[in-house]
Amino acid sequence: MSHPDYYKILGVPKTASEEDIKKAYRKLARKHHPDLNPGDAKAEAEFKKLAEAHDVLSDAEKRKNYDTYGDPSGPGAQLPPGYQQGSGFSFEDIFAGFGGRPMRHGPERGEDLVHAVRLGFREAFEGTRLNLRVNRSEPCLTCRGTGESNRKQEMCRTCQGKGKVGGGAAGFLSFGRTCPDCGGRGSRSPACPDCNGAGRHARQETVTIAIPAGVEDGARLRVGGKGEAGRRGGGPGDLFLQISMEPDARFERKGPNLYVRLPISFSEAALGAKVEVPTPEGQAVIKVPPGTQTGSKLRLKGQGMPIPRSSQRGDLIAEVAVVTPAIQDERSKELLRELADLNDADVRKQRSASHG
Ligand SMILES: [Zn+2]
Ligand SMILES: [Zn+2]
Repeated sequence: MSHPDYYKILGVPKTASEEDIKKAYRKLARKHHPDLNPGDAKAEAEFKKLAEAHDVLSDAEKRKNYDTYGDPSGPGAQLPPGYQQGSGFSFEDIFAGFGGRPMRHGPERGEDLVHAVRLGFREAFEGTRLNLRVNRSEPCLTCRGTGESNRKQEMCRTCQGKGKVGGGAAGFLSFGRTCPDCGGRGSRSPACPDCNGAGRHARQETVTIAIPAGVEDGARLRVGGKGEAGRRGGGPGDLFLQISMEPDARFERKGPNLYVRLPISFSEAALGAKVEVPTPEGQAVIKVPPGTQTGSKLRLKGQGMPIPRSSQRGDLIAEVAVVTPAIQDERSKELLRELADLNDADVRKQRSASHG
């Protein structure tokens, strides 16, 4: 049984102290905790990995076994089932001592960015390539994202070198909280002169994004790594495109299916006909069966929207509207009266029968 790189999971070097491991775990666990990410399976999986890594690395014997044999249980041993469930910290522990502020040391992933994108019918039907101007940031090359210069460490002014801020000497629970500016070290390097300590630079980038054919209104597309730069070696965030659609004059869309209104004449409805119907590509001929009523739906299979990541398409559904002729001339009136005599069925009879 192989084990993941627990040091990498926690973002700490192999030489990390027990305290470093604890801090790294708390910081990451706080971010991925299931209580803060309800229903997010990815966060839950991440949290389990963190708990497992912490469980191994915070236990001197397991860590030694892992370092030596690549297995926390020692040579040739197997992990008992459910091993990764155990975590040394409760949710409260994770928040303790931080006062709700993130730690200022250790890698921190960049923020995600969200851009709204409005697409026309044709773009959604065919798919498109967008060149999006994105205001994002890149890690500072001078300080490699740490925000610190390589000049000599100075006493941290925020905590006066104590590593803790707030709290008093009195109560047995009030030790103050870890200084957010030096991470409890009491000292820090002067800010990088290139980025003024931010660890990153703002920059505008043109990001080319392929929008898949058939994308739906309300879809969120992720472009990995095109969010804000991370801090202190943390990876970049992601860019999300929030898709919305311009309404189309002809087609109404419901999922992969397209609906189009199809007016037909009284005689086409009665006798049946072959009529043209607009499709996304142009025109198609659809067969109207004799005796078609207003509201009938005629389906053209596979002529709707493409279904993303498949070679299939939805259907095109023509909704029939019978247009009653506005008769003016006597000859037509005569013919219709004759027709009525020949077809004297009560059109309301069926309705009352079905209701009674
Ligand atoms: Zn810098
Ligand atoms: Zn400090």
